[in-house]
Amino acid sequence: MGPLYSTIAPPTQQSYRMILWGLTTNISFAAIKIGGGLLGHSHALLADGLESLLDVLNSFLNGIAYKAAQQPPDAEHPYGHGKIESLAGIFGGGLLIFSGIIIGRTAFSQIASPPPQHPSSFTLLILIVVILIKGLLSQTMLRKNQELNSSLLHADAWHHRSDAMTSLAAFIGISLTLTGIPAFRTADNWAAIFSCGIIILNGVYILRNTAKEIMDARVSEDMVNSMLEVAKSIPGVKSVEKCRVRKSGVSLLADLHVRVNGDLSVREGHQISHNVIHHLLANDPRLRDITVHLEPD
Ligand SMILES: [Zn+2]
Ligand SMILES: [Zn+2]
Repeated sequence: MGPLYSTIAPPTQQSYRMILWGLTTNISFAAIKIGGGLLGHSHALLADGLESLLDVLNSFLNGIAYKAAQQPPDAEHPYGHGKIESLAGIFGGGLLIFSGIIIGRTAFSQIASPPPQHPSSFTLLILIVVILIKGLLSQTMLRKNQELNSSLLHADAWHHRSDAMTSLAAFIGISLTLTGIPAFRTADNWAAIFSCGIIILNGVYILRNTAKEIMDARVSEDMVNSMLEVAKSIPGVKSVEKCRVRKSGVSLLADLHVRVNGDLSVREGHQISHNVIHHLLANDPRLRDITVHLEPD
């Protein structure tokens, strides 16, 4: 009898490489934007740079959590280590919301008394390059993902696209301030506040998804239905009474109540339950741990 514990397939080499490319871009952009924002006196560019820096921190956090979640169960954690991803989610989401509020407050407080210095025009040049590269990156990722079909890569591509939008807002804000029209004097600050809004929204999104996982929210109906189909197709299974699935990090844990002929021997019934487990594990790589309870008919 094979192992009843299966490890989830890591993202393919190719999608992993694309995600690493995105991370490298974020690291260099964070440095350029923060440096440019400080030297060029632009709140919008500085906020945009801090957003990139937070992206980098979150990527590292997720990478470490993903590695730790792959650790097989041990005596201390018999259900495996998947929940560490939820811990990373709480921390990462909280960090985004906290930073968004802090940066936004600074930009807001200066609207009443704007500093005498205008942003330098070279900040616009930085933003043009950033918007072009980010746009290209997300476009390439989405196209590649049509064959790779990785949800991780898909989410990453959309994040790069949202980053391009934040940078575009910064570009517009700085341009308006540079027109010298008095009404647009604080446009740079407003663009920074817009960036902070995006940062906070991203944090709320991460926290909301994490809360669902912690609460063991039900998984998609399609997933449960396909499990029922597989279980019912196993010889000896008369019906499936109950099928519960919950998410633990990147993996899923499930328990099923299966009805079989009540006159079978313990050995025969046990064999059927193992067949059910092995077919379910083979059918969906996200499933990691399955318990089958037998009901006599
Ligand atoms: Zn971002
Ligand atoms: Zn067994």
